[in-house]
Amino acid sequence: MSTIRTADVDAIVIGAGFGGIYMLHKLRNELGLTVQGFEKGGGVGGTWYFNRYPGAKSDTEGFVYRYSFDKDLLQEWDWTTRYLDQPDVLAYLEHVVDRYDLRRDIALNTEVTGAAFDEDTDLWTVTTADGRSLTSRYVVNGLGLLARSNIPDIPGRDGFAGRLVHTNAWPDDLDITGKRVGVIGTGSTGTQFIVAAAEMAGHLTVFQRTPQYVVPSGNGPVDRSEVDAAKENFDAIWDQVRNSVVGFGFEESGVEAMSVSADERRRVFQENWDKGNGFRFMFGTFADIATDPEANAAAAEFIRSKIAEIVEDPETARALTPTDLYAKRPLCNEGYYETFNRDDVELVPIKENPIQEITPAGVRTADGVIHELDVLVFATGFDAVDGNYRAMDLRGRGGRHIDEHWTDGPTSYLGLSKSGFPNMFMILGPNGPFTNLPPSIETQVEWIGGLIGDAERRGIRTVEPTPEAEDGWTATCTEIANMTLFPKADSWIFGANIPGKQNAVMFYMAGIGAYRQKLAEVAGNGYEGFERITDDETAGV
Ligand code: FAD
Ligand code: NAP
Repeated sequence: MSTIRTADVDAIVIGAGFGGIYMLHKLRNELGLTVQGFEKGGGVGGTWYFNRYPGAKSDTEGFVYRYSFDKDLLQEWDWTTRYLDQPDVLAYLEHVVDRYDLRRDIALNTEVTGAAFDEDTDLWTVTTADGRSLTSRYVVNGLGLLARSNIPDIPGRDGFAGRLVHTNAWPDDLDITGKRVGVIGTGSTGTQFIVAAAEMAGHLTVFQRTPQYVVPSGNGPVDRSEVDAAKENFDAIWDQVRNSVVGFGFEESGVEAMSVSADERRRVFQENWDKGNGFRFMFGTFADIATDPEANAAAAEFIRSKIAEIVEDPETARALTPTDLYAKRPLCNEGYYETFNRDDVELVPIKENPIQEITPAGVRTADGVIHELDVLVFATGFDAVDGNYRAMDLRGRGGRHIDEHWTDGPTSYLGLSKSGFPNMFMILGPNGPFTNLPPSIETQVEWIGGLIGDAERRGIRTVEPTPEAEDGWTATCTEIANMTLFPKADSWIFGANIPGKQNAVMFYMAGIGAYRQKLAEVAGNGYEGFERITDDETAGV
C-alpha cells in the first residue's frame, strides 16, 4: 500500500529567472498545480536582476532573446536595439510575471538553503534561510547556470578602501562617472564593461589575464519596419531556431573552411565581421571553426589581423592578441579593441606582471606599481552550471548529498533530471544544450511540464532516471564534446575557471535541434530511461 501523503504544495520552483518564471506559469496556470516559487533576489529576472553593471546587455539578438511560447506575448513586446540592454530584459521579464499573474506565488528575498527527499513519504522538504520549511511532491530547480559569482581570493581583497564589486551584484548606488576604475577579467562581462566604463570613468585600468578573441556585435538601433517584419515572420523564425544548432536566429554554415580558397575565406570572415555577432562569426562563417584545428586557426588569424589593424600602440596590440585556440564561448562587442586606443584606458597584462595584492589604495602588481583606484570591479565570472546546486544542502535518496553524486563533475539525464533525486528536475542542469538559452529553457520547461502532466494523469508517484540512462547521457555528451575544440580551451564551459574545480563535460554540444529530437524520442518511447512508480506501487508503468 502506498503511504498517504499530503504536501503543502504540489510543486516548488526555485529561482525566478527566464527558467523559473516559465516553469511556474506552466505548472500553475497550465497544469493547475499549486506551486510555490522561491527567489533569493529582491526581484524577479535572475541574471537580469543582478547584472546591472554599465554595458550589460544580451549578445543574442533581441528578436530571439525572449520567450516564444505565447504568440500574443511575442506580438505585444517591442525592442528598439539589435541587442537588449539589461533594463530592457528586466522590464520584459517583469512584464511576463505580471501578465501571467505569477508574482503572488514567488517569495522574493528567500534563499533556499536545503531540499531533501523523504523516502517514506516520497515528498521533498524545502528549507529557506529565513527558517521556512515546506513540503512538495515535485521540485524544479531554475537556479541559473551563470548565477553563482566567482570572487577570487586575492591577498588584501577585503582591505580595499574604495568600492569593490562583482558584476553579478552591481549596486544601484554605484556611479563610476569620473572615477579611477580598475577591472579584473576580460570575458563576455569584462569586455562589455570595459567598453561602457571607458566612456564614463576618469581612468580605467584593465587587468587582463588571458587575451580574448572579440568580434564586433554590430549593435545599433532597430527601426520599426524590422520589428514589424520579425513579428510577421515569427513562426518561421522560431521554427528555424528550434531546428538549428546554436539557436541564435541565423543559418549556420554548412561549408568547411578549408574547402574554399584563402581569398574566399577572408571574404566570408570579413562579411561576418561586418554583420557582427560572436556566434555568427564562429558558426555562421564556416561549419568547422569549432571542430577543425586548421579552420579554427584561420578564424583566429583573421581576428588577430584585425587587432593589429585597430590597436595603435604595438605593445598594447601584442598584449591584447590571443595565441591560443578560438574555442571559448564566442564574444562580441561594440569597439572593444578600439577602446584601448584611448589615453584614459590602460592595459595591464597580469600573466606577465601578476597582481601581488590588493592594497587599501588599489592593486599592486609584480613590477611594484600600485594602480590607485576608487572602484575595483571583479568581472571574474561564475562557478558555472553546478555552483548553485552544490551551494544548497541538496539531498536525494538515502540522504545522499548532491556532492557525493558529483565527485567526478556534475552529471544528469538529458540535462534536466538526476538519478537518486526522484521528482526533481533541473532547468539548464549539467549537460543541457549549449545554445542561445531562452529557446533551450523553453524546450526543457515544456518537456518537464509534459512529463509532470503525464505523471499526474497516470497517478505516478515518483519519476526518476535510472543510473544507466544517466551514464549513457554523460557518455554521449562527452563523445560529442570531444569532437569539438572546446575542451582544449580553459574556460567555465568545462569548469576550468575555478581553482580546484573538477574539469568535466557540462554541455550537450550537438545543438538544440538534435536535443529536441532526442527529448521527443524519449517521451514517445514512454519516457525511456526513467523509472516511474505509480501510487499503487506498480513499477515501470
Ligand atoms: P538565472 O537568470 O540565472 O536565474 C536563476 C535564479 O535562481 C537567480 O535569480 C538566483 O537568484 C536564483 N537562485 C539560485 N539559487 C537559489 C537558491 N538557493 N534559492 C533561491 N533562489 C536561487 N544567454 C544567452 O543565451 N544570450 C545572452 O545574450 C546572454 N547574455 C547574458 C548576459 C549576462 C550579463 C549574463 C550573466 C548571462 C547571460 N546569458 C545569456 C546567460 C543567462 O544567464 C541566460 O540567458 C538566462 O538568463 C538564464 O535564465 P535562468 O532562469 O536559467 O537563470
Ligand atoms: P568568464 O567568461 O569566466 O570570464 C572571467 C574573466 O575573469 C576571464 O577574463 C578570466 O581570465 C578572469 N579571471 C577569473 N579569475 C581570475 C583571477 N583569479 N585573476 C584574474 N583574472 C581572473 O566570465 P564572464 O565574462 O562573466 O562570462 C561568463 C558567461 O556569462 C559568458 O561566457 C556568457 O555565457 C555569459 N555572459 C554573456 C554576456 C553577453 O555578452 N550577453 C555578458 C556577460 C556574461 P581567464 O580567461 O584567464 O580565466
